[in-house]
Amino acid sequence: MPEGDSHVTHKIRLTMQLRHLGISDPRVLDAIERVPREYFVPKTFQEHAYDNTALPIACGQTISQPYIVAFMTEALKMGEQDRVLEIGTGSGYQTAVLAHIARRVYSIERHKPLLQEAEARFRKLHLTNITSRAGDGFKGWPEAAPFDRIIVTAAAESVPDVFIDQLKEGGILIIPVGPVSHDQNLLRITKKTEGLESETLLPVRFVPMVEGVSSDR
Ligand code: SAH
Repeated sequence: MPEGDSHVTHKIRLTMQLRHLGISDPRVLDAIERVPREYFVPKTFQEHAYDNTALPIACGQTISQPYIVAFMTEALKMGEQDRVLEIGTGSGYQTAVLAHIARRVYSIERHKPLLQEAEARFRKLHLTNITSRAGDGFKGWPEAAPFDRIIVTAAAESVPDVFIDQLKEGGILIIPVGPVSHDQNLLRITKKTEGLESETLLPVRFVPMVEGVSSDR
């Protein structure tokens, strides 16, 4: 079978798996179907592009598991007019999925080489509603704040205030919180007039959020 056909078959199998695992928002399933994950996965792992697993990428980081990408995207409850901030561009896969649903996605990555590769993929896929930059996600993106939604794809020890500050009232923040290697929980925090509402959604395992911009180039 030519490589392209096998990717199509595997992609259909993956979206069926995601449905069985409880992903039901048609916009999320549609976005997963539209984004070619093989573009975001290193050459050596091409045959695993549509496996429901996280895979290694450059700079010691990982491209998240498709189920987690779909789960977090669904949990954000985005509207099509929403402006979304993402911390941890990585391969850009989660960014691309968000960009199919939201109005604009702002994404920050601390490793420049990862960011540059991700930006090349956004251009190739004509994803023109993504604005990205190299920077320290712990600072957020003050010039573009406030955001309707914020999604963090690296684990923090606790919820940084900056994300609450840069969230609109009524806005939603999704963030993995907990120690580096184990015991992390995915939290959904809703900023309400009365205060913050926090829900624990799922145990997860993410690479840690690290302060500052990496000096690799
Ligand atoms: N959503 C990405 C996940 C990448 S892993 C994907 O599916 O490909 C998490 C990413 O967060 C890593 O690339 C890591 O470099 C980045 N990261 C960690 N701390 C950060 C920080 N303070 N600011 C910006 N990015 C950060």
